Amino acid sequence: MTTTQHHSALEAAELRVREAGRWLNLEDGLIDTIVAPRRIIEVSIPFRRDDGSRDLLHGWRVHHNTTRGPAKGGIRYHHEVNRDEVVALAIGMSLKTAIANLPLGGAKGGVCFDPKQYSAAEIERITRRYVSEISSFLGPDRDVPAPDVGTNAQVMAWIMDQYSTGVGHATPGVVTGKPIELGGSLGRESATGRGVVEAAALMLAKQGKDLAGQRIAIQGYGQVGMWAARLAAARGALIVGISDVSGTVHHAGGLDLAKIDAAIRDGARGVCAAGVGDVVARGLEGSPAVFALDCDIVMPCALGDAVHEKQANEMKARLVIEGANGPLTPTADLILADKGVTVIPDVYANAGGVTCSYLEQCQNFAHLSWDEDQVNARVIDLMRSAFERFHSFATESRLPYRLAATVLGVKTIADSHRMRGLHP
Ligand code: NAD
Repeated sequence: MTTTQHHSALEAAELRVREAGRWLNLEDGLIDTIVAPRRIIEVSIPFRRDDGSRDLLHGWRVHHNTTRGPAKGGIRYHHEVNRDEVVALAIGMSLKTAIANLPLGGAKGGVCFDPKQYSAAEIERITRRYVSEISSFLGPDRDVPAPDVGTNAQVMAWIMDQYSTGVGHATPGVVTGKPIELGGSLGRESATGRGVVEAAALMLAKQGKDLAGQRIAIQGYGQVGMWAARLAAARGALIVGISDVSGTVHHAGGLDLAKIDAAIRDGARGVCAAGVGDVVARGLEGSPAVFALDCDIVMPCALGDAVHEKQANEMKARLVIEGANGPLTPTADLILADKGVTVIPDVYANAGGVTCSYLEQCQNFAHLSWDEDQVNARVIDLMRSAFERFHSFATESRLPYRLAATVLGVKTIADSHRMRGLHP
């Protein structure tokens, strides 16, 4: 097996872009331009706790590339989020919008705290202060945030309200992933999972296989994982394993998703408390057990850096669809490549979410709303054309999928830089 050094998520993202730049023979100055974020905003967020005391958090908003359109990317509320992680995720967004051929750039934001430890009123005050600190960098034509880990439609509504209050008129197009009542798009909630499942089906079709009957193991049962499970099951796949922070459940004949969903609605704290399948490992440490299950496809849909050397060595699946951002460490990636496992990288596989966000912006700009079937069909259409573009590029260039996706993304961005020229 090839050996590799351990790199942080940011180093790994930068190295991938540089490797793509070398493959494309880009001049050094242009590679540097594409690697470097346009701007990084670091803010302090003072706010009032419910008990009347003052507290202080730190947040970031990164505009990575804005050459092809407004900066676009989610806002993450998580206790481990840091500047470098936000930059790495913003690089991923620039590549994702370029690979999906959307007229958008790449951005990401984050505030370092665990939202589960704060009341809704505190989260609202944190959000409003964060937005007021970064508001001059936001705007429908400038930078359009969306939900990510730890944020949701309610947080987007507060962002929209705070921004709109500042500019003096309702501006729904400043965020996507909003509540439907405020101009959000139908289909947004399921879009990323829908894209993940479509990515699996398209790849299988290239291999002459069908999604129906495939055995799938999924890490993460949040917005992405839950919808990926539901939509894959609806197309005849068997969801044989699911893991989340509570651990891993398994049933070779396919887990009863309706029962899991009902248990979670009734307050079960995670899939292991749902009374479905066999609990093969408990707790956060038990979650990686899902990667060793006997199955055909693995969909990591939780957090980054989930699959390490051990999990890659143990993995039996022949196809990995990256629902989460950066779920494979570079070492795991190499091990899976050596084992001949096909990996469809995050920058294409989870682009269904940003694709639907783009459709939300289109509806906001046109002051209209499409019905859910129309939105879902457009997401699938855009994911399919992006897949054909990405797959034929990988086939023609004979590059492995991750490198092919990065090269295609970097090429798309580099071409736009060249066409726009350099100011002054
Ligand atoms: P979420 O918060 O809705 O769900 C996360 C799930 O992962 C939960 O089931 C949680 O229990 C589980 N989880 C968290 N930490 C874990 C751990 N250490 N081990 C095992 N399970 C863990 O988040 P989401 O919106 O579903 O996003 C999941 C991933 O997908 C993230 O990497 C996110 O950046 C990426 N993503 C999300 C979207 C989107 O539209 N939501 C779009 C593109 C990419």
